[in-house]
Order: sequence, then structure tokens, then C-alpha cells
Amino acid sequence: MKKILSLILIVLILYCGINLVLSPHKISKIKSNIDPLTLVNYNHALGDYKINLVTFNGFKVCDIIYNDLVDMTNAAKKDGITLKINNSYRTAEDQRDMFDAKRQTYLNQGYSYEKATYKAKETAQLPGYSEHQTGLAIDFSNEGHPDDNQKIWQWLKENSYKYGFILRYPNGKEDITKITYEPWHFRYVGKKAAKEITKQNITLEEYLKGK
Ligand SMILES: [Zn+2]
Repeated sequence: MKKILSLILIVLILYCGINLVLSPHKISKIKSNIDPLTLVNYNHALGDYKINLVTFNGFKVCDIIYNDLVDMTNAAKKDGITLKINNSYRTAEDQRDMFDAKRQTYLNQGYSYEKATYKAKETAQLPGYSEHQTGLAIDFSNEGHPDDNQKIWQWLKENSYKYGFILRYPNGKEDITKITYEPWHFRYVGKKAAKEITKQNITLEEYLKGK
């Protein structure tokens, strides 16, 4: 009896150990119903979708991006790049706080309320209009080692489309996105669209217009 118990214990320990080494797991059940091509920008508010959140390295993301995010992180690691996340899913309340704080900095600088709101919109979105509320957008940067950021962003720019992500706010496309260049912000759109958008050097807005 004792031997059998020891054997069960050993099997259990081995099983847990293997799982730890292989983590994070892939997920097999997707519960969200948001389309990866959903447009959320300055004049498209987020609609009423079911967004099921899962945790990746301590950050909440929509479950539809999870498995590709695992693959991308592993691929980067093989190239010697550690993809650190700085921001992912935000609630409408988080977004409101962030926007208000941005506006406040301009108010403190002496701008009028209207001008401060206008200035804040250059780098932040109003609640309901941020991609971060979809759980499909991720800001990558290494806060602890900012020197690594250029390498991280360069790798993502060249490789993220293979895993369904795009550089969402490219340099020189500000007139379309209405957001200043953000080398850290990547958005999941699915592999097919990501490849086309990246190869054609266009934005999600331009891609959807051509559909
Ligand atoms: Zn972002």
C-alpha cells in the first residue's frame, strides 16, 4: 500500500513539474465573440462584444489572442528577445482615469479645457474608443531595462505579423490613425490580415476600407 502511495506521489510530482516547464499552456476553448478585425479608433467606439479575459504573464488579454501570443513570445525568446508587456486590457474606468490624467497635465500647463482635451486626444483615447478595452492590444516595453526597447520593437515590427499582430500606429500614418507614432503598441488582427497589412505597409483603417 505504501509503495503504491509513493508511486502515485512521484507521478503527481512529475506531472506538475512537466506542466511547470511547459507553461504557459495553450488554451483550447475560446469564449469571446469579438472579431479580430474590429475597428476601434477615434470615431469607432467599441461595440457590445463578449470579451473573455485570460491572464498572460500577469496581464489580462482577450482569449482569442492568447495562443498566438504564447507562440510569438517563444519565437522571440529563441532570437534572444524577451517580450515584456507594459499594458494590455483596460476597463472603461481605467481608460477614463488615464485620459483625465493626460488632460490634467495640459490643464496644469495653462491650456483651456477644450485645448487640453484636444491635446490629450493626440496620445490617448476617450473611454470606449481605446483598443486596450478590446483585450486585443498590447504595449510591449521593458520598464526595468528601457535600453532593450529598441530591440524589442524592431523584432516585433519584423516578426509580429507571423503571429497575427500589427504595429498599429506607424510613423507617418498619423493623419489616418489620429494617434502619434507608438512603436510599442501592437494589435491582434489575425494572421491573414496581419500579413497583408504589414507587407503593404498600411493601417487597419486602410485595410478595412479596401475590403
Ligand atoms: Zn497601447
